[in-house]
Amino acid sequence: MTSLLHTCEPPSLRLRSSLHRHSRLGGRTATPSHLSRPPRSRRPAAARVAMTTASDELGKGIAEFYDKSSGLWESIWGDHMHHGFYDAGAPATITGHRAAQIQMVEEALRFAAVSDDPLKKPKRIVDVGCGIGGSSRYLAKKYGAKCEGITLSPVQVKRAHALATAEGLEDQVSFQVADALKQPFPDGQFDLVWSMESGEHMPDKTKFVGELARVAAPGATIIIVTWCHRDLSPSEESLQPNELNLLNKICNAYYLPAWCSASDYVKIAQSLSLEDIKTADWSENVAPFWPAVIRSALTWQGFTSLLRSGWKTIRGALAMPFMIEGYNKKLIKFAIIACRKPT
Ligand code: SAH
Repeated sequence: MTSLLHTCEPPSLRLRSSLHRHSRLGGRTATPSHLSRPPRSRRPAAARVAMTTASDELGKGIAEFYDKSSGLWESIWGDHMHHGFYDAGAPATITGHRAAQIQMVEEALRFAAVSDDPLKKPKRIVDVGCGIGGSSRYLAKKYGAKCEGITLSPVQVKRAHALATAEGLEDQVSFQVADALKQPFPDGQFDLVWSMESGEHMPDKTKFVGELARVAAPGATIIIVTWCHRDLSPSEESLQPNELNLLNKICNAYYLPAWCSASDYVKIAQSLSLEDIKTADWSENVAPFWPAVIRSALTWQGFTSLLRSGWKTIRGALAMPFMIEGYNKKLIKFAIIACRKPT
């Protein structure tokens, strides 16, 4: 993997910003294609080839990263591979942190007003970027629903399946290796479309949301909980160079393409005619998370497991302070975007 493929460049993630500044990153842009992307036929052939390769390479890096690091994460943090949602004064124990991860799921459902009513509750759910299936199993049990999870990591699929079987959920939840940007599902399948902390890995945010909308049934709820950068001010064309530098370090460690803002997501959702679009900044609510992850890595168990998990995982651990710095500088935003597919 070259540094080119991991970099957060180019600078501008703004809608209407130039595709040309993004082109060597495989179309890693938040820009809705109809707004500023030149038609495919007008792009030079060499650029098209480079874009495919970059996306494939990114996907391979993501798969390897999670293949190698998921075991360590699970051994310390359990089956939810996402931030916790903390109330003021929440307990700083590992049990408290795991409870905060469940609370994140519950807060997201509440924010999107997903109904518990037996007649209206979700029956078919897709978990896009499912990790080892923490959300899939939780949602399937909560709603008595069927859930299908997709991830790029074969190791995660195997582990997700084993955990589901151990809980007797193998008829309710299923997992497969598949790309969120080319989902292996027909149109209009799911009444809850769930993406918990996978959007930041997606090299083409427009295609990502487009696929979420495509597989959603009419009236379905779509929930995206994801890492974003701050909104740009009206006078800004892009983030500041020092901000891009910081994001770049995070991208290199966690296999992330260019970031976008929550308002970019809103614009994409609007461009797809999605309805009831709501967003919130939960950065304050997740603040205790990364310090806790760092503390867990500094225990004897965390440290020795980290060394055994290899360089990719170690590099991820070394980047954790950058996440804290990003939040402290109000550059990184922990965002939820919820919307509904028209009926
Ligand atoms: N949602 C899970 C895991 C979050 S980790 C949880 O909350 O526990 C990010 C996940 O996104 C990983 O499983 C990774 O494989 C997946 N992912 C990243 N890019 C993806 C893509 N293009 N298609 C499918 N899954 C992807």
